[in-house]
Parts: sequence; structure tokens; C-alpha cells
Amino acid sequence: MIERTLVLVKPDGVQRGLIGDIISRFEKRGLKIVGMKMVWVDKDFSKQHYSAHIDKNFYKGLEDFIISAPIVAMAVEGINAVELVRKVVGSTEPKSAPIGTIRGDFAHVSYEYADKKGISIKNLVHASGNSEEAEQEVSLWFSVEELFNYKSANQDYVM
Ligand code: AMP
Repeated sequence: MIERTLVLVKPDGVQRGLIGDIISRFEKRGLKIVGMKMVWVDKDFSKQHYSAHIDKNFYKGLEDFIISAPIVAMAVEGINAVELVRKVVGSTEPKSAPIGTIRGDFAHVSYEYADKKGISIKNLVHASGNSEEAEQEVSLWFSVEELFNYKSANQDYVM
């Protein structure tokens, strides 16, 4: 039931100065950050992380975007964390993401606009899609030494 999942604050979130706002959405929900670092990834790493999308027509734009500035990577832990994090983040297209979600509150771009311009959707955050993906992604981004077991107040007051 307790899961770990990967959250990335993408280059647009870092460059817009939204790191703190984004992280606080997860902290306030009672999720525990068990790993965190800033990384500037290269094309090879982008291909590893987005291996499922390499053949898609938006991949070139996605790669250009993801290597354009640093990313803040987090491993986040909580009860059914994969599903909860995706709920907090909102749907992939900011235009359709409900108000109250990170993408709905801090962005508004549409697929149509991004695809016409041949650029990636700037949607601030990446969140693992399912439990299997979460395990793979956490171990791609973090070594065992970079992940921490500690007690948070949430364990007494939220869980
Ligand atoms: P996902 O693995 O679902 O997060 O998808 C990878 C990322 O690719 C998304 O978060 C968007 O940033 C981007 N993306 C997905 N679909 C499109 C699209 N049709 N046009 C432009 N960018 C896209």
C-alpha cells in the first residue's frame, strides 16, 4: 500500500521559479519526500527516461525541452502514492487539467498549440504512470544511497 513514485519538476517549473510551490503541493497532502536533487540531464538520459516515447512524433521536441535547463527530481512516498501524485499533478495537457491541480493552476497550454509549433507540452511536472513504472523510474534517477528512510510527522498525524 505504501508506494514510492518519481516526481520531476521539469525545466519550465524550475525556470519559472515554481519549485517551492510545486513541492509544497505534495508535502501538504502528507506525502513524504524520501529523495531529492537537481539534475541537468543529457540526450542519452532523456532517451532512457522517455524510452516509451522515442518513436513518437513529439519526442524530438520533448528531448529538446527536457535537456534545456535543470530538473528537480524527487522520490515521494505515501499510501497509494502513484495514483495520489497523478491526481495532484492533473492531466498531461494543461488546457484540460482541472483547476486545483498543479498543471491546471500554473499552466494552460494545449496539445494543438504545442503540436502546431512542433514543441513539447510544457506541463511543469512528470509523475510516474503506474507502480511498475514508478519502481523503474525511482531506480533510474536515484541510487540506493540517495533514498532515505526517516520518520515524518505525517506518520503520526496524517496516516
Ligand atoms: P508522459 O510520459 O505521459 O508524461 O508524456 C511525456 C511528456 O511528453 C508529457 O508530459 C508532455 O510533456 C509531452 N507530450 C506528451 N504528448 C505530447 C504531444 N502530443 N505534444 C507535445 N508534447 C507531448
